Amino acid sequence: MTSYPLAGVLGWPIGHSRSPQLHRHWLKTYGIKGDYVALPVAEENLEAVLRTMPKMGFVGCNVTIPHKVAVLEIADHISDRATLLGAANTLIFRADGGIHADNTDGTGFLANIRQHAPDWTAANGPCAVLGAGGAARAVIGALIEDGASEIFLSNRTRPKAEALKQEFGSKINVVDWVQAGNAVEDAQTIVNCTSLGMEGCPELRVPLDGLTPGKLVTDLVYQPLETRLLREARAAGATAVDGLGMLLHQAVPGFERWFGVKPAVDEAARAAALGA
Ligand code: NAP
Repeated sequence: MTSYPLAGVLGWPIGHSRSPQLHRHWLKTYGIKGDYVALPVAEENLEAVLRTMPKMGFVGCNVTIPHKVAVLEIADHISDRATLLGAANTLIFRADGGIHADNTDGTGFLANIRQHAPDWTAANGPCAVLGAGGAARAVIGALIEDGASEIFLSNRTRPKAEALKQEFGSKINVVDWVQAGNAVEDAQTIVNCTSLGMEGCPELRVPLDGLTPGKLVTDLVYQPLETRLLREARAAGATAVDGLGMLLHQAVPGFERWFGVKPAVDEAARAAALGA
């Protein structure tokens, strides 16, 4: 067994993950002996791998697609926010052998916006969320926790948005995908939680004429960093926040629990995650 703590990220596939670069940058910056590795793990092997990792010196790990929901069946302790969202991204291997599961996507989302717009709150006015997948769940949970009173939710597949309304309640107003431009117009905070605009995916074609100064626009897509949505937001005088910071901020609680230091989300961390 290694004499220093190990952590990692489990997914399938996992080659695209930027987490190893980020965590290794932090380990180096703070002079911590330890390592963080990307582990390709197929769904059928997830539990066996998770039960073996603590015996190999791992103190915890991140999980990503497709394991975020399945880990809740395996974990011995689940945080309230992971229970609420039905998914986890951060696991802590406890000294008693138990696996604790948490979800830091929502806090990462809020911390990223606050870093760029300290006075922003979800209570500033109606919010528009585009998309109704796993990331949208975390974002909606965070917006409600932060005081959002009304959320316009628009998704190509409307029943998925209706299902989220069932879960999160009357603050959600489902808007047809073809009407998403109206949601952008009526909202103060606009969040793209679809994969549209990501390299290799189609462009986000939602009408953006409703973007005006004073609005806050953020895109979860961070490849490229400057999406059409963010470009148009800046051109309209709105505040635009890219999605890379969410990736960095969601990693902070795990690193702190595993390695004992709260790491900084700064330009050097951004550069490390980008592989610069
Ligand atoms: P997901 O569960 O697969 O959801 C994908 C979403 O995109 C769904 O709402 C889907 O709509 C929509 N979509 C996909 N193709 C579309 C198309 N051609 N037209 C209209 N809508 C389309 O994925 P996820 O985990 O929520 O992730 C969504 C995005 O957020 C990804 O780009 C991911 O990389 C990014 N993300 C970033 C961070 C971060 O830290 N910055 C964290 C999590 C996720 P349907 O329901 O109609 O299919």
